[in-house]
Amino acid sequence: MHRHLLPLLALAAPLAAQDHDTRGWFKGNTHTHSLWSDGNDFPEMIFDWYRSKGYHFVGMSDHNVLQEGEKWLDLEAIRKRQKAVGRDAVTKAEARFGKDWLKRETREGKEGIVLKTLDECRAVLEKPGEFYLLPAEEMSNSGRKQPVHINILNLDEVIEPIKDDELPPREVLRQSMRTIAARAARSPRPILAHLNHPNWQWALTAEDLADVAEGLFFEVYNGHPGVNHLGDETRPGDEKIWDIANTIRLAELNYPPLLGFASDDSHTYHGEDVSPGRGWVHVGAEKLDGDSIVEALRAGRFYASSGVALDAIRWDAGKGILSLEIAPVEGVEFTTAFIGTRKGYDATAERNGIGEVFATVTGNSPSFTIPEDALYLRATVTSSRKHWNPSFEGQMEQAWVQPVGWH
Ligand SMILES: [Zn+2]
Ligand SMILES: [Zn+2]
Repeated sequence: MHRHLLPLLALAAPLAAQDHDTRGWFKGNTHTHSLWSDGNDFPEMIFDWYRSKGYHFVGMSDHNVLQEGEKWLDLEAIRKRQKAVGRDAVTKAEARFGKDWLKRETREGKEGIVLKTLDECRAVLEKPGEFYLLPAEEMSNSGRKQPVHINILNLDEVIEPIKDDELPPREVLRQSMRTIAARAARSPRPILAHLNHPNWQWALTAEDLADVAEGLFFEVYNGHPGVNHLGDETRPGDEKIWDIANTIRLAELNYPPLLGFASDDSHTYHGEDVSPGRGWVHVGAEKLDGDSIVEALRAGRFYASSGVALDAIRWDAGKGILSLEIAPVEGVEFTTAFIGTRKGYDATAERNGIGEVFATVTGNSPSFTIPEDALYLRATVTSSRKHWNPSFEGQMEQAWVQPVGWH
């Protein structure tokens, strides 16, 4: 492998054996938008919402910007972003933080507000060990006008997006990941990048994700209703993309597999549709700070969720057994699909046998032995409970466990 891959790779160890008590893992959402880019609420109000819902950390991943320096918005623009009727963002922020909280300033005859920076939000909302604001940017690249969006976590300076009308999205993804890796190599703190919503505008295929060695993390679930999470008649959904990409990476390219994130990608906070609370990760970080969170993510010590919580993840590498303990919920049943691809899969365009459901197990303690000819094994848990804030019709709560058993 190339030297420039190294800063983003730390997956050598994780997938050997695992015995995780996941009950104390931190819950966080790494993908959110505020008025600093195209979201429609103040960052402090959004952070406060997550804090009140029991999240431990949030990455406010505005497009191509960190919440630092100065940003002034005129009130008219703030109001226009709000599609729902009811109390406006300004009234709500003043009700929550006090009449003097927002910094009102008139510029060129227009009434407006200077947005709070991340540091200003930290001062009033962070609580050591309980709630942490994770620096984040959504590096919003494009290739041939197709979106190639990558979230960068724990970074200390904006990484400018690559926008190229000639380059195909796959090459923009590769270049962006290399740019991030180069930055990671000289960054004072560890940073992590996850590719977002591959199916949005059908910009990136599973083959694209497979081919970019540096892309190690991607969103297997993104809560924006417009991202084609389930695919369509001819194109795979995000979960199938995960299996296709990982099969190609492991069997044909000798790259490590992609690990899956779930996130909100929320933009609207007043009762509209692109709302928060849909997807998140649980992370086995030693401390609640950016460095520890990124180190745990890089080591694969996390799972993705849209509602199902796990008490334990165990991978007995010697016996090849993956077993889970699912946090019980009164009156709710869980079904776990153990999924993988066998070495004899169909490598033609048909892709038969990729992402085979080896077994479906009900109950709170599912367990399964990896078939001898499997390239990897992963698990998706689906609850009998409907998602409280679905991003697609019929959505049930789920959890996605990272692939194990690969080498
Ligand atoms: Zn995006
Ligand atoms: Zn986004």
